[in-house]
Amino acid sequence: MLIAVQPLDRLVRAVFTRKGCPEEEAARIAHYLIKANLTGHDSHGVIRVPRYLAWIDEGWMRPGQHVRALVDTPVLAVLDGQFGMGQTVGPEATRAGIAKAREQGVSVIALRNAGHLGRIGDFAEMAIEAGLLSIHFVNVYASLLVAPFGAASRRFSTNPVAIGVPTGDDAPFVLDFATAYVAEGKVLVAHQGGKPVPDTALVDEAGNLTGDPRALYGDQAGTSYPDPTRGKGALRPFGEHKGSGLALACELLAGALTGSGVNTGKSGAFHNGMLSIYLDPARFDTDDRFLADVRAFIAWVKAARPTDPVEGVLIPGDKERRTEAERRAGGIPLAADSWQAILDAARKVGLRDAEIAELLEDRAK
Ligand code: NAD
Repeated sequence: MLIAVQPLDRLVRAVFTRKGCPEEEAARIAHYLIKANLTGHDSHGVIRVPRYLAWIDEGWMRPGQHVRALVDTPVLAVLDGQFGMGQTVGPEATRAGIAKAREQGVSVIALRNAGHLGRIGDFAEMAIEAGLLSIHFVNVYASLLVAPFGAASRRFSTNPVAIGVPTGDDAPFVLDFATAYVAEGKVLVAHQGGKPVPDTALVDEAGNLTGDPRALYGDQAGTSYPDPTRGKGALRPFGEHKGSGLALACELLAGALTGSGVNTGKSGAFHNGMLSIYLDPARFDTDDRFLADVRAFIAWVKAARPTDPVEGVLIPGDKERRTEAERRAGGIPLAADSWQAILDAARKVGLRDAEIAELLEDRAK
C-alpha cells in the first residue's frame, strides 16, 4: 500500500507523544523515520516504530534526554547521549560539530550512548547545508550480526559509515552505507519470501558462503519479525577483507574512542556510538578552487559510459534524491504487515481507532 507523507507524519508523532516524548522530539522522530522511507531506506523508516516503543520500554531509548558534554574544547567534544532518542541526540551532536568547525575550521565530536541514530546520511546532510564536509563512523553496541572476513562467527554489527561533501548549488555527495554486505532488513525480506539476497551475502555455521536467510534467523518460518540472533551463521561484510577492516575500524573509532563500548558479545543496552569529523573547505581552499574541482570531478564521473543507459552513472546521494522525489509525489510504499504492526503499536500506546482514523485522513495516495 502507498501512504502519503502528511498522515503518516501525524500518526508517528502522535504515537511518540503518547509514549512520553516531548512534542518537538516526537516531531523529529517522525521526520527522520519518514525521511529514511522517502530516501528508499525502508529498513530504517517507520517499520522501526514498534521496535522503538519496545526499546523505550527496555530503557534503551529514553524520551526527553539531551547530550551531556564530558569534554568540551574549541575543536573537540565528547558527548554522552544518555541513551536519549537518536533523533534528538544525533542532531544535537551534529550541531555542536558544525558550530565548532565554523569557528575553528575543523572539529571532532565523539558521541557515546546514543539511542538508535537511524540513517547516518542525515547528519552528513546537516553538515552539507552548513557548507561543511563530514565523515561519520558508527558502531552498534549489543548487536552481533556480521562475521569478520575469514570467519564464520559474529563479531560486528552492520556498522555504518557516511561521508558528505558539499557541491555549492549542485546535488551533494552523500555516501552512506552499512559495512554489511546487505542490510539485515534485506535478509528479512528474503526470509519472508521476497527478493533473494546474493548467494555470498551470508556465511553458515560451517563457513560456507550462502544466500540462505536461515544463516541469520535459523528456522523461524512464518514469523513476521524473526529474531536475527537465532541463526548459527552470520552476515558477511561488504568488500571482503577491505569492508571487514572498515567495520572493525568503526568499532575502534565509534565504540572504543568515543567510550560508547565495543561489541564483545556482552549484553547491555542496544545503542550507537558515533565519531564525526567536520571540515570547513573554505579554510583549506587557498586557491579558491575547491567547489570547481568537486563539480568538475563529479561531472567527469557521471559522463562515464553507463553500463545501463536507463539508470545512468550515479554518484552517492543520487539514488536517494530520485527515490525521494518519486515517493513525495506518489506516497511511501509499506508492506501490509509493517502497516498493521504500526497500527497495533498506535493502539498499544492508547490511541483509539477513531483518533487513528482522524490522524490518517487523506492517507491514501
Ligand atoms: P545501500 O546499500 O543502499 O547503499 C547506500 C549508498 O550507496 C548511498 O550512499 C547511495 O547513494 C549509494 N548508491 C546506491 N546506489 C548507487 C548507484 N547506483 N551508484 C552510486 N551510488 C549508489 O545502503 P545500506 O548499506 O543498506 O544502508 C542503509 C541505511 O542504513 C544507511 O542510511 C545507514 O546509515 C543506515 N544504517 C544505520 C545503522 C545504525 O545503527 N544507525 C546501522 C546500519 C545501517
